[in-house]
Amino acid sequence: MRHHDGAYLILRRHDKQTKAKLTRSYLNLASKSENKGICEACLGGTPGHDWTDYRKRATYLQTMYTSRPYVGSSLPALLPFDASKPEYVLKTDVDHNFKGGWGRQLIASCVLTLADLGYLPGERPGASIKTKLENSWSNFHLWAKANGKTVHLQGFTKTNFHYTTRGTFPFVGCKFADTLVFLKWIEFVAGLNMGREKDESHVPLLLAMKEGAAAAHRFFSVLHSNSLWLCQEEATACIQDGRAMINAYMFLAHRSIEIGKPYFTNVPKHHQFAHILNEFERQVDEVCAPLVISPQAWACSMDEDFIGHVSRISRRVSSRTTETMTLKTYLVSCKYQELKNK
Ligand SMILES: [Zn+2]
Repeated sequence: MRHHDGAYLILRRHDKQTKAKLTRSYLNLASKSENKGICEACLGGTPGHDWTDYRKRATYLQTMYTSRPYVGSSLPALLPFDASKPEYVLKTDVDHNFKGGWGRQLIASCVLTLADLGYLPGERPGASIKTKLENSWSNFHLWAKANGKTVHLQGFTKTNFHYTTRGTFPFVGCKFADTLVFLKWIEFVAGLNMGREKDESHVPLLLAMKEGAAAAHRFFSVLHSNSLWLCQEEATACIQDGRAMINAYMFLAHRSIEIGKPYFTNVPKHHQFAHILNEFERQVDEVCAPLVISPQAWACSMDEDFIGHVSRISRRVSSRTTETMTLKTYLVSCKYQELKNK
């Protein structure tokens, strides 16, 4: 949470359950306590409120902030933010939600689907998934070079896709900044194959990949090119593109279930993203606010904020420990400079 006077409160995912002591959280899914609810803001996941309904009229939207997601004293209750709904202090970071979340699932699932259907560039009939991924990485590398893009990931592999065994839900372990680059390439590959589909049923799949990836780019382009406030037109564009992103993903998810593939898994991050869109819609349609606050106000992805020397350090450390290792390396560098100047 980024406060207007410069104070910060950053809760990691598991902190919401442990430090905030929430009774409603996505962790209830893992403990098979789904009926207790999976969201601190609404009653999604409780009987009668399907948390996987991401439409504008989902029933859980009527239950937002109607009951506290904790019992007794909890971190939200102790913070001076909104006495009528203390849990409102818990915000979703849109970068972690998509670029570090379901956007990475979208990439891995699109690439594996394209591999299964034989649409990956450089593919040879009968090649193994390992070979298909290696060949498509070569194509991506060329495309990235031609378009002046660089990524942190070292290659398309089953390990990088967390796809070690059939049946696991794949996602690519890339940095946040890589996510949009890979989606741009997927948009390119899907578009390249449209008009020469191997089967009529592939047309909507390729279209959903192309449109979903393009919508993600437009969505973040608006957020990145503006500061804290968006005008009505920009917010409306974000709503349309956000809806296109989630609709494309869910269409692909349904098709994967039909053909028995573990791609495009449905996760609570989609529910949180639906809340981000709902907040846009509330400000645009209900309040008719002339300016709409950008969800980037609550973003706290450090590697996105790094510039110059610090940015260069962040590109040379593990993506899993970017924040910690960048800060440590920078401190060592500062100490070295201090000793050198004595
Ligand atoms: Zn919710």
